[in-house]
Amino acid sequence: MNNELSEIEQTRRNFIKTTAALTGAAVCSTDLLAAPEPKPANSGKMIGMQVGAVSFVDEGVEQVLDIFQEKAAVNTIFLNTFSYGRGLAGRQVPGQPFPDHGPQESDEKSFHGGNYATPHAEYYKHTVLKDTRASDLGNLDILECVLPAAKKRGMKVFCACEDVFRSSVRGIDKVAEIDLQGRRTGTLCLLNPDVRNFWTALVTDYCKSYDVDGVLFFNERNGPLLNALGASHSQSIASSRVTCFCEFHRRAAKELGLSLDRVREGYAKLDQFIRAALAGQRPADGYFVEFWRILVDYPELMAWDKVFDQAKHQILADVNAAVKKVRPSLQVGFHIEHVNSFNPIFRATRSYEDLATKADFLKIVVYNNCGGERYVHFIDNIAATVFRDVPKEELMKFNNHLLNYEEKPYGELAAAGMSADYVFRETKRAIDGVKGKCKILPGIDIGIPTGRSGRMATPEDTYAATQAGLKAGADGLIFSRKYSEMRLANVAAAGRAVRDFSKA
Ligand SMILES: [Zn+2]
Repeated sequence: MNNELSEIEQTRRNFIKTTAALTGAAVCSTDLLAAPEPKPANSGKMIGMQVGAVSFVDEGVEQVLDIFQEKAAVNTIFLNTFSYGRGLAGRQVPGQPFPDHGPQESDEKSFHGGNYATPHAEYYKHTVLKDTRASDLGNLDILECVLPAAKKRGMKVFCACEDVFRSSVRGIDKVAEIDLQGRRTGTLCLLNPDVRNFWTALVTDYCKSYDVDGVLFFNERNGPLLNALGASHSQSIASSRVTCFCEFHRRAAKELGLSLDRVREGYAKLDQFIRAALAGQRPADGYFVEFWRILVDYPELMAWDKVFDQAKHQILADVNAAVKKVRPSLQVGFHIEHVNSFNPIFRATRSYEDLATKADFLKIVVYNNCGGERYVHFIDNIAATVFRDVPKEELMKFNNHLLNYEEKPYGELAAAGMSADYVFRETKRAIDGVKGKCKILPGIDIGIPTGRSGRMATPEDTYAATQAGLKAGADGLIFSRKYSEMRLANVAAAGRAVRDFSKA
């Protein structure tokens, strides 16, 4: 029975492999024959587009690059070469309407994720994560496929790598984070030397094996304190699942003179508080006071959160060092997540000036359309626990003052989206923050999926947001999150905004 099944499975896999490889080969060869003459990159600014490998396979390399250059005024491709997540890789997110290009069929069943280039074994000797090749596009090496065509046009190519894994990756059980209850999770422990070795290996492999221009690194993960509170737009509140309590974290606690027992005890107390708050059991002194009391009683909570942040930033420094070791002229950028925009407590843990020391550019998330719904979700989360005594409308108003936002009220924001003024203010804040030590490229929202109540991009929104980023003084832009979720009218509006700005 098992043999039969595996035989069928093998045949199916071979079929997928062969067809995908053939498709890939066809995409590469015919496209190169038809490659047009190089076109000069526009303006002095880096105008980037995030795109997953599947879009080139689905729509053809030259056709996609034509659209990028002609419609979107793009001169730089942020090609997703590594992720197991659907935010950067794959076709449109399942359940969302397809854009007006590419196949109108979901890849939900075939999507796998991983490394869309070729992992060269010699670089992965010091990590258990050796086997990460993406299987959904067969043997296709997306860098081999896209690089020659992009170079011919004078376009730059960056590898966009994201720390999103799936639990079936071979070796992941050896490097996974351990939660408060001692359970293994699906996320990698950033203090584990093996994990550090993996990221270093991956970016070294890309920069040595291919003629790329650099790397854009994504890690949107939060530390235990924010995770316990669910104080982000993108998560549910799971206070009993905080991490990490593995052997490397135990060692770090010892080195820092932190008692791991106290850390556990504090997070267990916080877990009890969060559960009671979610059930509406108001402490005698109110929700906020009780929360602050736990922080005062257990300073280890913040200290443990900082251990996570330091490990995350160490990986950024590792990536930067590894890329520069290959060639100092290669550029490194970091994606700075949306929670940095909404959550003042998170903001306090991030210094743009410090991040600037590890990167050539920062891609700051200022997604405005989906931002409305996301910001509302963030307020809903914190209003369910720590700020449960405050009406949501007032909480958002107060938070807007802290963040320097002037946006629509709570009840209207999801449908309205954030404004172009939000893009301008956040871009300006980042530019002021880095003090000229690195470049700032705001990530512009082009059709990022929202729920039913959220705002979907229109060409007018996209034009206004693109212009706002440039007017704030940005060194360029990155159209986000992936081409396979963007409508062409919005792509064209972004390009128009870039061209109008350079004419002005
Ligand atoms: Zn750990």
